[in-house]
Amino acid sequence: MSVPDAASRLCTACGLCCSGVLFDLVRLQPGDSVPQLQRLGMKLRRKTTKPWFPQPCQFLKNGACEIYEHRPTRCRLFECQQLRRLKEGETTEQDASAMIGLARRMVADIEALLPPLALGSQPPTLGERVSAALEEKPDLKLQRLHNRLKRLLDREFRVLG
Ligand code: SF4
Ligand code: SF4
Repeated sequence: MSVPDAASRLCTACGLCCSGVLFDLVRLQPGDSVPQLQRLGMKLRRKTTKPWFPQPCQFLKNGACEIYEHRPTRCRLFECQQLRRLKEGETTEQDASAMIGLARRMVADIEALLPPLALGSQPPTLGERVSAALEEKPDLKLQRLHNRLKRLLDREFRVLG
């Protein structure tokens, strides 16, 4: 079993770094081609000097990136803690898969407590949906679940620094 194959299987079953769970947005980097990405249909925004696109990413479909060959630099370079540990031999594909499964079940449990998404425009991130729901009506269960998920993401997926 090769590590790249295992990483590919894990990412296809995960998508947390594209679906608006881990990140709110992705900034383009020097070398990313704005015209090419726009030709591919990417809806770029530009508040600062670096163009960016929001998450959940419009190109995430059934766990796969629709523009994989042309994905921006940040997408190509990002490796979450689970992938890093897999490469270092500090975890196995099976354990990483179990961790991804746990995170995804927690996301699903949170989503089950949220109002359905409105169709149409750019969907909000999970964090934005939770904040909006809690502003509308305090919900201790939702708040606790979301706090647990954030701690899990910080410990097991996010890369600090
Ligand atoms: S969070 Fe990690 S395992 Fe999940 S899709 Fe991103 S890089 Fe892959
Ligand atoms: S462009 Fe592809 S890899 Fe990058 S955030 Fe979107 S779906 Fe994920």
